[in-house]
Amino acid sequence: MAEFKADGPAEFDMKDGLALALAYLEDPSNVPCPRCGPNTIEVIGYLDAGRMAQGEAIPAAPENDYTVILYCHGCGRAAALDLSRGEDEGRAAA
Ligand SMILES: [Zn+2]
Repeated sequence: MAEFKADGPAEFDMKDGLALALAYLEDPSNVPCPRCGPNTIEVIGYLDAGRMAQGEAIPAAPENDYTVILYCHGCGRAAALDLSRGEDEGRAAA
């Protein structure tokens, strides 16, 4: 089990993180890095999104409210994508 550091030195910015999230939702097994392209992103693990918000990194199953941790071997950046959608799925934020 990989150890996840929430405040690591290298992270994707919000724009790249969004691109990663969209790609992940489309196909979790094929997430290209916005900078490095395909085949560099590894899914490190899944964390409980609710506990994550409280600063705790608790491993969770990839269902319901979870945060997926991605790591790019190309640029060495990590991303924590909060994919919790809850009851409001489909309701777009203005
Ligand atoms: Zn990369």
